[in-house]
Amino acid sequence: MKIFTSKSEIKEFLSALKMDKKSIGFVPTMGALHQGHLSLIKRAKKKKDIAVVSIFVNPTQFDNKEDLDKYPKTYESDVALLESVDCDVLFFPSVEEIYAENVTSEEFDFDGLEHQMEGRFRDGHFDGVGTIVKTLFEIVEPDTAYFGKKDFQQLQIIKKLVEKYNLPVKIKGRPIFREDDGLAMSSRNTRLTKEHRESAPFIYKTLKKAKKKFGAKSPEDLTKWVEKQFKKHPLLELEYFTIADEETLQTAKEIKENKQYRAFIAVFAGDIRLIDNIRLKNN
Ligand code: AMP
Repeated sequence: MKIFTSKSEIKEFLSALKMDKKSIGFVPTMGALHQGHLSLIKRAKKKKDIAVVSIFVNPTQFDNKEDLDKYPKTYESDVALLESVDCDVLFFPSVEEIYAENVTSEEFDFDGLEHQMEGRFRDGHFDGVGTIVKTLFEIVEPDTAYFGKKDFQQLQIIKKLVEKYNLPVKIKGRPIFREDDGLAMSSRNTRLTKEHRESAPFIYKTLKKAKKKFGAKSPEDLTKWVEKQFKKHPLLELEYFTIADEETLQTAKEIKENKQYRAFIAVFAGDIRLIDNIRLKNN
């Protein structure tokens, strides 16, 4: 695997491959890699000639300094994992390399997608995401970029970014990878205390129960039901549960037949904030 820390060097390397008509699949990450990340890289390998991964903990998408400072960094094991799946290129830039002196975000209008859910609770988060993804796309110029549905709102926002700026890249959303007990894989899971780790599968269990009840209860009653389950839980604190239209991400007041819905959740397990979501069936 080739490893680059400089924008100009990776650009030069990739442009030679593009001249050779090689297709490029790109997976942006913040490192502390797990099987969820690897599933995206394996997909990129399968579908494209060259798989490029970036590891960059992007400061402008964090509204919480402690979360940024304590974000897990496991560079050596990340490199070993990337080699185990035959990743071709790793881009591992410094903050200075990406932002120079100006560590700030561009402001984006994602047609309202950015004001829902994560956007309501993480100030400036999607401006930070938009800034870094657009910058990385300009450096790597991939044919296709792969994103996990674990961050479903982010996936929709990146599709919007590509549409609005006419970026020449295809965006593919991929399934959520889970631990055996159902907890969605996340780099932040390694920061959970033993007690919180043992409690955390409750999040997905509750999502699955909510999915079963969807249709029989109104979205509002189902939301109240989920809120009640978390009030009873001694270790987990619900930040939000929302049933939203997959396209607009607007909270659903009533269920319409020709729309697709998804339930979204954010929960604090101690200081660690976990998110998850599940697709709902209309019937
Ligand atoms: P992150 O390193 O958390 O920024 O994630 C990098 C990419 O991996 C994003 O597209 C995430 O949505 C995706 N990802 C993170 N966790 C999972 C998971 N459990 N299953 C599938 N994709 C994931």
